[in-house]
Amino acid sequence: MATDYDLLVIGGGIHGAACAQAASARGYRVLVLEQYEKPGMVTSCKSSKLIHGGLRYLETGQIKLVRECLQERHYLLENAPHLVKLIPFYIPVYKHTKRSSLAIRIGLLIYSLFSKKTFKSIPRHQWSDMDGLNTKDLKTLFQYYDAQTDDQLLTEAVMASAQRMGTVLYANTIFDSADCNNNQCTVCFTQNAISKSVTTKLIINTTGPWVNQILNKIKPEQSVIDIELVLGTHIIVNGELKKGIYYLEAPQDKRAVFAMPWKNKILIGTTESIFNAPPETTAPVDADIDYLLTVYNAYFKQHKSTADIVDSFAGLRVLPKTPESAFTRSRDTIIHHNSEENPCVFTLYGGKLTAHRATADHLMKIIQPFLPAPTKNMDTRKISLLEK
Ligand SMILES: Cc1cc2nc3c(=O)[nH]c(=O)nc-3n(C[C@H](O)[C@H](O)[C@H](O)COP(=O)(O)OP(=O)(O)OC[C@H]3O[C@@H](n4cnc5c(N)ncnc54)[C@H](O)[C@@H]3O)c2cc1C
Repeated sequence: MATDYDLLVIGGGIHGAACAQAASARGYRVLVLEQYEKPGMVTSCKSSKLIHGGLRYLETGQIKLVRECLQERHYLLENAPHLVKLIPFYIPVYKHTKRSSLAIRIGLLIYSLFSKKTFKSIPRHQWSDMDGLNTKDLKTLFQYYDAQTDDQLLTEAVMASAQRMGTVLYANTIFDSADCNNNQCTVCFTQNAISKSVTTKLIINTTGPWVNQILNKIKPEQSVIDIELVLGTHIIVNGELKKGIYYLEAPQDKRAVFAMPWKNKILIGTTESIFNAPPETTAPVDADIDYLLTVYNAYFKQHKSTADIVDSFAGLRVLPKTPESAFTRSRDTIIHHNSEENPCVFTLYGGKLTAHRATADHLMKIIQPFLPAPTKNMDTRKISLLEK
């Protein structure tokens, strides 16, 4: 039976934008529903803004994720040079640092082999020139390269690229419900206080922290993955980091925290605390702000206090519920669907800003058997995000 769309994407964050881009690149008719006025206004503007392989994921054996993210970093540097920039990262290793200089050197060696970008140790005579970094008990200062972006603008750029290829975006539009059978879904939504509906062959649910709430509004009943929402707070403080991004080990719990230059200020983040409230109430918490100030002050001579904070923001990670701590839990993206009962709905759990294109590409391969043959064959690895 003919439907209005081939794919209806719920959620205009980075993953919704990437799925729309990938589907339009294959010639499918795509509609995106986004509840806010523009794409990327939830988690996808609250990240640490790093386009990176995730050096620390080597420690937990997430080699595939690191390689994939570094590959994606390469494509983004090519396709979005105005939004994604390589920047030096510094890892100070002190007498009290949990990871030894040798362990970090080995990690950086593997990382540099994957990324084809070298790393080095900063000679001692240059340490006094490092943004006021504490040098007492400093043993080694490593430098390597990763990339930084403006996550909100990147999300908007990916969505704009999808729209140029035919995606229709309904902003200020709230998904209400869907009724699916084996061949199609009727999707109901509210736009400017008016209830409307369209038909689609498939639904892609990329609603970040709302994923399971959305699944509960779809008939027939959808299975859900048990998840935990993990709050990550960032603060922006007065000051400047001229050299690049500092990769710090939190003295409190040995987690990684970044201090980064950001729009002529300093961005510090992030934290990880379990969040048990509705996603729309997400906000930075005082304990996390104190934690971040304590980390920064442990490393830099010029201390910061709450009076230096000019802004703060918080986002939610979607992680599968497991007994491990949030910090060590796998960051792999999960693509979920009720294969037998209802092949019409595909849901994306978790994910990385960095890997959005690869994730969407992977999802396209999974949904391909449920769609007609693609009418176009554009390779998203080669699509420029620069507006022509
Ligand atoms: C603190 C933190 C730091 C991070 N740092 C990094 C980093 O440095 N690098 C990196 O690679 N990754 C990072 N990540 C991961 C990355 O930011 C996320 O994986 C990504 O932004 C999630 O995007 P998304 O599209 O899945 O979800 P979201 O961006 O949350 O998008 C979901 C969208 O669905 C919409 N929506 C929800 N319900 C409805 C409805 N009923 N109707 C219509 N629309 C709806 C929402 O409005 C929203 O726009 C970080 C994550 C966090 C939380």
